Formats: sequence, C-alpha cells, structure tokens
Amino acid sequence: MEKYDSIIIGSGINGISAAIYLQQKGLNTVIYEGSSTAGGSTKTEALTLPGYKHDTGSAIHPMAYASPFFTTLPLKKFGLEWVFPEIPYAHPFLDGSALAAYTDVEKTASQLEIDKDSYLTLFSKITSNWEAISSDLLGPLTIPSHPFDFVRFGLKAIQSAEQLGEHYFENEKTRAFFYGAAAHSTLPIDVWASSSFGLVLSVMAHKYNWPFPKGGASSLVDALISYYESIGGKLILNHKVTDIKLLPQSRSFVFDLTPKQLLEIKNTALSSTYRDRLSNYNYGPGIFKIDWALDEPIPFTNEKCRKAGTIHIGFTPEEIKDSEALTHKGEISQTPYILIAQHTVFDKTRAPENKHTAWAYCHVPNGDTTDMTSVIEDQIEKAAPGFKKIILARSTKNTKQLERFNPNIIGGDINGGKQDITQLFTRPVVKVSPYKTSNDQVYICSSSTPPGGGVHGMCGFNAAKKVYNDHFKN
Ligand SMILES: Cc1cc2nc3c(=O)[nH]c(=O)nc-3n(C[C@H](O)[C@H](O)[C@H](O)COP(=O)(O)OP(=O)(O)OC[C@H]3O[C@@H](n4cnc5c(N)ncnc54)[C@H](O)[C@@H]3O)c2cc1C
Repeated sequence: MEKYDSIIIGSGINGISAAIYLQQKGLNTVIYEGSSTAGGSTKTEALTLPGYKHDTGSAIHPMAYASPFFTTLPLKKFGLEWVFPEIPYAHPFLDGSALAAYTDVEKTASQLEIDKDSYLTLFSKITSNWEAISSDLLGPLTIPSHPFDFVRFGLKAIQSAEQLGEHYFENEKTRAFFYGAAAHSTLPIDVWASSSFGLVLSVMAHKYNWPFPKGGASSLVDALISYYESIGGKLILNHKVTDIKLLPQSRSFVFDLTPKQLLEIKNTALSSTYRDRLSNYNYGPGIFKIDWALDEPIPFTNEKCRKAGTIHIGFTPEEIKDSEALTHKGEISQTPYILIAQHTVFDKTRAPENKHTAWAYCHVPNGDTTDMTSVIEDQIEKAAPGFKKIILARSTKNTKQLERFNPNIIGGDINGGKQDITQLFTRPVVKVSPYKTSNDQVYICSSSTPPGGGVHGMCGFNAAKKVYNDHFKN
C-alpha cells in the first residue's frame, strides 16, 4: 500500500486548500471524500428542471474572491471566471424603497440621509485599511501584526449589531440595512460580536463587490481540484472514512470534519481530556433552503434589488432582531430574515435562455424540520409582487436533508459550529494551535477552526501550515 506524507479526509473548500498547500510543498498527499463529488458545501447541482444549475450550498463568494490563499493560485488558468453583480447587495422595505451596498462607500452613504456621515465614519477607514486588518482576522487569535488597526476594528466588532447600529444610526432603515449584513452570522442581533459579521461583509462589498464563480460554485472547486491534480495531488471519491487504521500509512491525517464527526472516527487515539473538550463544542441554528427555477427574474418593486446579486429581507430592524431571537429560543418566525441570491441576472450560463434561478434560505432552530416554503415565499412576495406566479419549479431542503447532502452540516448548521464570542477565534477548543489535536499526527482543518464558516479556504491553509511546520519543515 502507498505511503503518504498527509492524508486529508473531506474535500470541502478547507480540505482542498490544506491538500494544495501541502502538495505545493512537495509532499505526497491524497484526499479521501465520502461523496461522489468534491466540494462539500460548495457545489452546483441540477435540483429543479433540465438546464437550470443551482448552488446547493454556498452561493455568494466575496471571501473566496479576496482569500489571501486563493489569490496566490493560478485558478483563472484552470477555468475560474468571476461574475460581478451591478450592486453587491440590496435591502428592500415595505414602502417600495430600498438601500443598496455599492462598491463605492460614498455612494452608499449618500442614500442614508441623516446617517450619511456616521456611515462614512464607520466604514471609510476600515475599508481603506482592510488588507492590514484582515491579515490578523483570518487566523487563530495571536498578537496582531497591525495592532492599532486591529484594536480599532476589534472595539467595534466585539459589540452587538444592535449596540453598534443604535450608536451610529438614527434611521430605522439604516439599522435594518446593517442588521441584514450582521445576521449572516446566525447570531442574535443583541449578542456580543454579532456586529463583526456586519462590519466584515459590508467592507467586503465596498472593497471587492460580492462576486460569484461563473457557471456555479462548483467552478471554484473544479479549478482548485484541477490545479491540485496538476501538481500531483490525488482525489479519491465515494470513500467515507470511518477508521484511521483502514487508511494507508501516513505521517499526518488532516480532517475536514466538525468535532462531532471526528469523535466518531475510530483509532484516532485522541486523549480523553481532548475528547471531552471536543464533545462540549456548540453547534448553531440550522437553515431551511429553497432553490427555484423561474420564468423571469424576481420582480422586485425596487430597481436596486433588481440590480443586486444578493438581497436581504427583513422589513424593519425589529423584524430581523425578533426572528433571530426566536430561532435561538428554538422557535420558528413567521416573518424570518431571508437571504436571496439571483445569479442568472448576471450569469446567463446557469439557466436556459431568458429563464432564471433564485437561491434563498432562512434560519431555523438546529435540527428543525418545519417546511418554511410558504413563509419564505410570502416574505419575498411583499418585496416582489408577482414572484409566486413566475415559479416553474422548486427544490427545498430542511436541516435533516442538508445533513444528508453533507454530513458536516450538523442539524442544518452551515458554519461548522456556533460563531459566537466563545467560539469565534478559539474553535474547536481553546488551545495554542486550534488545528492540532491531542494526537500529534491528527489535525482538524474544517470551518470548525478559525477563521470559521465561509468559502475562503483559510482554515485549511492555516491547518496545513501547522502540519508542515510540525512534521516536514526541516
Ligand atoms: C446552504 C449553504 C449556504 C451557504 N452560503 C454561503 C455563501 O453564500 N458564502 C460563503 O462564503 N459560505 C456559505 N456557506 C458556508 C460555506 O459553504 C462553508 O463554511 C464551507 O464550504 C465549509 O467548508 P469545509 O471545507 O469546512 O467543509 P465542507 O464544505 O462541509 O466539506 C466537508 C467535506 O467532508 C466530507 N466528509 C464528511 N465526513 C467524511 C468522512 N467521514 N469521510 C470522507 N469524507 C467526509 C463531506 O462529504 C464534505 O465533502 C454556505 C453553506 C451552506 C450549506
């Protein structure tokens, strides 16, 4: 049997990133993937009618576009093309108005009337200093290399979205607009650090737009895998790993799994203390997901929404706050905060001529199986009258169905674990290196490690650097 330097278990974006880094260092690596296709939660499938391509998992990829690791790779040469929507994201209101996050901070602020100057105060400097701040944000907690920028950002990011929103903004609509970005965190709007996601995602819109890969999220994975194979890496599909002893010999094993699954793998020789700590890891709420095949683009009343790649629904700040709070109490909101992506307005390759797709989800309690179809469609109809009439077909997934699609989506949690202040930088456990387990040969590289959920590959990159430094550097 072949001997490897490193075996990577799971071909999610982080598993692939770890494998590429180690293979680039001249090591002999292989990825074992349980599914019949690579990519984990980053995958495009034909979920509705012939000719329609849907992103089953991730849809909007500013973090992949800006990833400090991906930008070093020759992905264009391996077929990756980025599509930039005219407006990164928009937020409609019941009176027919909407706010838009433009790439231009000034233009964004100019819609906000009394909040214009506050928006500029909050975002201008962070946006222009973003490279320095993000280099410290995208890894485990350590001494920042740009302490002043980091602390200035951190003092805002540690606050709740509600605190920050109320401090900076007087208009209800501006607050709802900010909460719409912050609620990507799947955290209640009034808990510590929930503002961090609103800040990071708004800055990404201003700095990079919110682009997506042409043809579907799988195009990113295809480019990464093609590059990995071109430098000698191997991918083995349809091989669910259950026991380390059944794998070939290797000097290191890197798991793109969440703690619950790592605990189920046999012969990992993890210490009982480490196992106890991993078993205390917390998962966050789940989601209910819908993909539609549409006869036309979504008929949003407001033009800004018709021109945006992503739309956040939550008609008042209270509506977003209440729906996220209910989810955390284990209850269902009848007016949930919703994220919508409309790729085909900008990428004609994803649907038959003149036809469209849309992608959306709302948060639900972990493990909940309530069918949210009509609740989601009723909410969208309020901002886009006539929406329901243009639906040709739909595909839905509740939390259990999402977990069957990808076993890492525990109870529907799409971020590999709760991203609250206790687990943001120190996931999965508090440790000098969060990527290293109690067994010197066993590492974890999934979104259950810093910097957490999202398609950026930085968990895999950071974990692989640790593997390399520990075992192969000299
Ligand atoms: C519906 C949805 C929408 C999202 N939207 C966005 C978005 O718009 N933008 C964004 O940036 N992020 C988004 N995310 C989050 C993002 O997709 C994830 O954070 C990221 O893809 C996680 O990557 P990963 O490598 O950590 O793990 P995963 O993608 O979960 O991959 C893990 C892989 O391991 C495999 N595996 C598991 N167990 C085993 C085993 N025992 N043996 C072998 N293989 C195994 C799985 O099959 C899977 O392929 C979304 C996620 C979902 C599900």
